[in-house]
Amino acid sequence: MTVLRPGLLLDRDGVLISDVHLLVEPSDVILEPGAADAIRSAQIAGLAVAVVTNQTVVSRGLCSEEQVTRVNRRIEDLLAKQGCKALDGFYVCPHHPNATVGQYRIRCHCRKPEPGLLLHAAQTLALDLQRTFLVGDRPSDILAGQRAGCRTVLVTSGRHLDPPIVGVQLGVTPEADFTFSSLLEAMPTILEELQR
Ligand SMILES: [Mg+2]
Ligand SMILES: [Zn+2]
Repeated sequence: MTVLRPGLLLDRDGVLISDVHLLVEPSDVILEPGAADAIRSAQIAGLAVAVVTNQTVVSRGLCSEEQVTRVNRRIEDLLAKQGCKALDGFYVCPHHPNATVGQYRIRCHCRKPEPGLLLHAAQTLALDLQRTFLVGDRPSDILAGQRAGCRTVLVTSGRHLDPPIVGVQLGVTPEADFTFSSLLEAMPTILEELQR
């Protein structure tokens, strides 16, 4: 029987890295302050750490999947420089129901707030979802986390909590289990909760 691991599933833009308008160039990647410290402590505690990100820019033809991969590699390089191990995975949804690029124009199950990306990560990485935290900066992240059966942390480091964005597209404003100003601020509570 596989022993399931606790996990940390991170939204990318606004949580792990600064949410810049259109991120295509790896050189534009800026880690959020303390993100590397947070990930290092999670890895030391034995958590699988993976990224779950909607990249609507791909569906709009503004950025290729390959460019997203290059940006993600840059994130790993920056984390490695600060003593982090490689992440356990990057899970990317490139789809959108109104995509301008035909191949991405589907109503998929992986675009958050759907839980498909998280469930895929959980299956691939053998995560115990009840002992997995989803950290995001948008209500759609929190809803995806709840639908996947994760525990949820909203961080206010992103740019997406100003009204009227909150809840408008979702029709609901999901309540996260915890709210913190950043991933770094959230880590002590996440690790403490997993000790219980
Ligand atoms: Mg985000
Ligand atoms: Zn998708």
